[in-house]
Order: sequence, then C-alpha cells, then structure tokens
Amino acid sequence: MQDTTRILDVAGIGFGPSNLALAIALRERGEEAPSAAFFDRSPSFGWHRGMLIDDATMQISYLKDLVTLRDPTSSFSFLCYLKDRGRLVDFINHQILVPSRTEFHDYLAWAAARFPEVVSYGSEVTAVRPVPGEHAIDCVELVIRDVAEPDRTRTCLARNLVLATGLRMALPDGVELSERVWHSSEFLHRLAELPPAPERSFTVVGAGQSAAEVTNHLLGAFPDARVHAVFSRYGYSVADDSPFANRIFDPAAVDDYYLASPEVRQSLMRYHGNANYSVVDLDLIKEIYRRQYQDKVAGVHRLRIANVSRVRAATPVANGVDVQVEFLPNGEVETVNSDVVIFATGYRPADPMPLLGELGDFIELDDEGMLRVDRNYRAVTSEKLACGIYLQGATEHTHGISSSLLSMTAVRSGEIAESLCAAVRPTS
Ligand SMILES: Cc1cc2nc3c(=O)[nH]c(=O)nc-3n(C[C@H](O)[C@H](O)[C@H](O)COP(=O)(O)OP(=O)(O)OC[C@H]3O[C@@H](n4cnc5c(N)ncnc54)[C@H](O)[C@@H]3O)c2cc1C
Repeated sequence: MQDTTRILDVAGIGFGPSNLALAIALRERGEEAPSAAFFDRSPSFGWHRGMLIDDATMQISYLKDLVTLRDPTSSFSFLCYLKDRGRLVDFINHQILVPSRTEFHDYLAWAAARFPEVVSYGSEVTAVRPVPGEHAIDCVELVIRDVAEPDRTRTCLARNLVLATGLRMALPDGVELSERVWHSSEFLHRLAELPPAPERSFTVVGAGQSAAEVTNHLLGAFPDARVHAVFSRYGYSVADDSPFANRIFDPAAVDDYYLASPEVRQSLMRYHGNANYSVVDLDLIKEIYRRQYQDKVAGVHRLRIANVSRVRAATPVANGVDVQVEFLPNGEVETVNSDVVIFATGYRPADPMPLLGELGDFIELDDEGMLRVDRNYRAVTSEKLACGIYLQGATEHTHGISSSLLSMTAVRSGEIAESLCAAVRPTS
C-alpha cells in the first residue's frame, strides 16, 4: 500500500538518538520545519537495551544530551527531563557528570515519547528506490516492512532521506551466533532466558568497555560462576577521557578532521582511537581487579584471564560450548568448555549502500572507495539525483571519531536540520 497523498520533505530511517535529535532540531525550527516522518524497526523506543546493565554508566557528560550543545535553552535537555521526573535537586546532590545508562535510556525514551505523530515503530525500511522526475530523480520511495506482520509492506515518498541506522555487531570470522554463543548486544536478553544451573561458566571474548562490563556483571550476578576472559591485549587498557584528549569529540574537531588530508586523518585516529575503541573506564578496570584480588584472598579462582590470546573456534556441544583458545606467544591451543560464550567484539557502522540500492550508483566515491560526504553530512551525488541523502553515523572517514557517538549528536543534527531547511525552502 502506498501513501500517495503526499511527498514528505524528509524521511528518517532509524529512530535512535541520532534521528531523535534531528526530529527535535526540526521541530525547534518552528514554522519553517519541513514535513518529516521516521521509521524504526524496534517495537518501541530502545537504546542498546541488551546492555542496560545495572551500574553501567554513560561515557559522556549529561551535558552532551540530545540538544544542549546546540541550544542550552531547549526543553529537550537532560536537565528538563530531570525536572520533569522530579529529580533535579537529587541529581545535583549526587555530584556526578555521567548518569547511569539506565537513566540516560529513560531520558531518551522520555524525549522520544514526545514524537508519536512522526515516528512509526515496528517499521523496517527494507529498500529505497529512485523515482525519476522531469529533469532528475527528485523523489525516493521507501519500502517499509511491518515487523509484526512481515508479509505486509507499505511505501512512502520523500524528497530527502536521513539514514541513522546505527551499529552492526562485529564478530570474528567463522563465528556463528546460537543459543549458547552470543554477541554482547543481546547480553541481558539472552541471560534472562538462560535456564538456572548451580555453577555457571562463561567465556567473554574482548577487552573493550562492553567486555569488561559483561565480565564484571557476571562475577557480581553469579557468585559461583567461573568467568574466562579472553583477549589479545596484555590487560584491559584505560579509556583516555582526560580534558585535552577529550577535545577530539568537540564540534571544532569535526571541522579540523573534515579539512585534513587522508594522512592527517589517519594519524588523528591513531593518536585518539584510545578515547573510544577497545578501552575501558578506569573505575571498572579497578573493580574487576578488586574482585579478582578478593577471590584470591578467599582462595577461589572465579576469573581467569587468558591474555595475549585469541579464540580460534567456538563449537556448540551437548554440555555447552567448546572454545579453542590460542595463546599467541607460543601458538599453544587449549580447549575450554563453557556454558556460554559472549563475543564482546564490538561493532561497525552500518554500511548505507545495501539499503540505498540503485541510489548508491549516484553517490560519488573517494580514492579509497568510500562515500564522499559534504560538511553537512549530505552524500555528494551526481546531478541526476536531486534528493538529499544525509548520513548520521557512517561518516567516521570524513567527520572523525565522534561520528557514531553521542558527543556530536546535538550539533550534528542541528547542522543537518539547517541543511534540510535550506534544501526544502531555498531562499533564491
Ligand atoms: C552498549 C553501548 C553503549 C554506548 N554508550 C555510549 C556512550 O556512553 N556515549 C557515546 O557517545 N556513545 C555510546 N555508544 C555509541 C552509540 O553508537 C551511540 O550511543 C548511539 O546509539 C548512536 O545513535 P544512533 O541513533 O546513530 O544509532 P542507534 O542507537 O544504533 O539507533 C539506530 C536505530 O536504527 C534502527 N534501524 C536500523 N536499521 C533500520 C531499518 N532498516 N529500518 C528501520 N529502522 C532501522 C534500529 O532499530 C535503531 O533503533 C554506545 C554504544 C553501545 C553499543
């Protein structure tokens, strides 16, 4: 069924924090706001629900919410949320800058709940097709699948697209997920389904924030469990969130990165990757160390760390999973049996090209074969495509390390909103 009644100015694919912030930025433009609709495949608003571990905290200040860096007076700020929930004074007395992830999720859901008229949940966009106009393609058709009834699809037309489809799990080659082999993104859902057993054993693969959170949670939630942490580093390494290094997440850093040559961009990523990738908050590292030390004092060995190691195979067997772990210095392989293996091996941004289908043919590529994107996150296209295709997330190669993070969400969505308004209502 096609909604032929109108052509939207803007269709947003995904309604996580990025497109939620865009919906806010568009609404706050008042009368000049273009018409917009957003589609998300989740049944309701959700932000990394599988990792909403008790006690896990945000990696950013609450001031890096959906709006404050763009407009500190917005009614969608974290402070307005606190006021609305009756916790403003309590939060101030708490004297923290980083809320828990559970609280931030509640904040995001609170903001999303103010957009019932523009967002369709349970709606997966499965394809986007060009609709030729008189001189160029000036409209696209979205094919939207009803997740609850997969045989039902509908379509809608739009003049601009904003893709914010988030991250995809990254797994080592050959690993297949199953009832006993999980990715960290599904951790809490899977854990809730695990049948009770007296003594549990888990293998956690990876040395980043998620791996450390999963390891720490298992040690706390299952006092009798054995946890086998496998990673290729020598030990968990600390996330650099010191003040000067943190400036790599500033709006100004995006300008610098965008202007820089490929060599300078590469070196910036090399210098500052440790602000985000494969690193862990110092407090969490200390907590895991404390637990392991306390266990040693008590004469138990619940946490075993296989460092400088990698998993060569994880094979489901009758009593769990046989995990082959290779110790990299000498190549020796040990087989460890676990009830469950959790791959906390990270994420990669969703590649927009498969979803864009034929539209992708109109987007210019750089020398490395990556999408060319202008400073306002609009893909650079041939003149045959008049529609705007904006990317939220998949622009680390052009806009730097904050592209898939929350730090720049408020400012980025403001820049995209401004560009959309200019495209929809050109002044001359
Ligand atoms: C556990 C975890 C903790 C994190 N903590 C932080 C943090 O503290 N600070 C920080 O800066 N960053 C953090 N991040 C990084 C994270 O990328 C951002 O927090 C944020 O999720 C980016 O928002 P987004 O809207 O771009 O993507 P997402 O939040 O991933 O949202 C994408 C949405 O698109 C929907 N979608 C995907 N494909 C389709 C489709 N075809 N059709 C319809 N809908 C679709 C999905 O259902 C999803 O709702 C964290 C990431 C993880 C995994």
